[in-house]
Amino acid sequence: MKQIKKKRWSDYLWIVSSTYFILGFFSIAYAWVGLLCLGTALIVSIAGGGKIWCNSYCGRGQIFMHVGNTFHLTRRAAPPRWLSSKFFRNTFLAIFLLTFAEVIYVTVLVAQGLQDMHQTIHLFWTFDVPWNWTYTEAISPVHAQFAFGLYGLMLTSLIIGIVLTIVYRPRTWCVFCPMGNITQMISKAKAKE
Ligand code: SF4
Repeated sequence: MKQIKKKRWSDYLWIVSSTYFILGFFSIAYAWVGLLCLGTALIVSIAGGGKIWCNSYCGRGQIFMHVGNTFHLTRRAAPPRWLSSKFFRNTFLAIFLLTFAEVIYVTVLVAQGLQDMHQTIHLFWTFDVPWNWTYTEAISPVHAQFAFGLYGLMLTSLIIGIVLTIVYRPRTWCVFCPMGNITQMISKAKAKE
């Protein structure tokens, strides 16, 4: 008889991630919570947790599983092999890090008064989408600028991950996810210690 796996609290972290993305449609200030998520993944793996973040605590990975498995929105096709190649994973990581550096750079320009705050989010490294209704003076323009940048990056990864889940299979994004790649590098380095 098939055993039903008992759910743990961590199986519901997709709700936290979904709430994060929904709140970003109402107030850009919530985008800062994304740093907590990225930072926790790094701390867990530096502390010797290996890939436990990806396997148990990543709400975004769980969203992809629900899209594919709960809502059956997936073709369950094998993704192209180049997606998981070392070259592509590291190139994508470099692009991700450069984009993150650009988010910080633009924030510094706004802090120095050299540039006005852009009330837009940058999607797919290409499109500046107006997001002005989410800004209130509850946060400073400098904090808001970083939040717009971070949210654009997070939403881009979510949309790409969902599209890949539908076109291929759940968690196809995870084979080249920058955070997954970084935590894997840290795990390998720790294993050699
Ligand atoms: S690879 Fe990325 S998206 Fe997938 S579970 Fe890990 S951190 Fe989350």
